[in-house]
Amino acid sequence: MNAKTETTRVGTDANYDKDGKQVTHLRVPNSRNESGWGTLLMPIAVIKNGAGPTLLLTGGNHGDEYEGPVALMKLIRSLEPKSIKGRVIVIPGLNFPALCAGTRLSPIDGRNMNRTFPGDRAGSITQVIAHYVQTQILPMVDVAYDLHSGGYSMFMMPSVMIHYLPDKAQMAATVEAMKAFRAPVGLVIEELDTEGMFDSAVENMGKIFVGAELGGGAVLTPETVAITETGIKNALIHFGMMAGKPETPVWRSRRESRVMETPDIGCFSMSTGAGIYEPFLELRDEVADGQPLGQIHDPQNPDRAPLVLHAKTSGMLYCRRAPGRVEVGDTLAVLAKPSTTW
Ligand code: CA
Repeated sequence: MNAKTETTRVGTDANYDKDGKQVTHLRVPNSRNESGWGTLLMPIAVIKNGAGPTLLLTGGNHGDEYEGPVALMKLIRSLEPKSIKGRVIVIPGLNFPALCAGTRLSPIDGRNMNRTFPGDRAGSITQVIAHYVQTQILPMVDVAYDLHSGGYSMFMMPSVMIHYLPDKAQMAATVEAMKAFRAPVGLVIEELDTEGMFDSAVENMGKIFVGAELGGGAVLTPETVAITETGIKNALIHFGMMAGKPETPVWRSRRESRVMETPDIGCFSMSTGAGIYEPFLELRDEVADGQPLGQIHDPQNPDRAPLVLHAKTSGMLYCRRAPGRVEVGDTLAVLAKPSTTW
């Protein structure tokens, strides 16, 4: 226990070994002009009942993604220790300053929590939080679900997401954890850039990590919140931590849960121009190779033909740009293909 207090600058009253429900804080140093001895009080809950797996549930890794934080706050209030076996650690706002500000990045140090792992005890506030999670929490954890959404800039099909992992046993267990959530899509994805991700931090420790992309546009819908809450319950049932029957939630009048893949960069379409993006397709639409996905209008030159964006492969429209205004390099569309492996 002494090692813990020596290696992190974050304090907490949480006793991770104690049975029962504790709702408390991580105390993160936050000295600033307005508050010389100021501290960020970041909510955390530990709900434990005897032996069993440890499940970590996080939301607000990006502060403009709300399904996770809302579902996890509701879980903290409703989940009683007697209804579970094992330990659930809940952090509704992993980048808590960002969640309070409604921004993707921290308003304090401008950092992206999901590009900051493994963190730095002597770094800025986002690095200090990441370092605490990496060194103090992850060693206790068997399974982590990190609940994201599309945020301000993207709409996603409500989904859970995993990576291609080299270890076969870890991959098999991770696929099952992905399927267990029963989101409309379970996506195996090759990311554009994995440096500093929370995902990689957990995966590199040989543990099960499932990300989620539950909606987007920095808004909530009743369906995406319900998908998140049902998915968390399904995960608890899957890992033998809760009794009950898993349910497949409804999204846009369909009750389905399928495994798909985004295997390479060809599935991502970036903007090559700036202007106003007019999408031609809605999420879940089928796309043929070469099909126009949308077009970018130049407001300065209304008589000029818009720049048309074409799909570079076939698939289903899994993600699309949310705001109309776009710059060069923005991700405008991501396609997913039915999986033949899983
Ligand atoms: Ca995110």
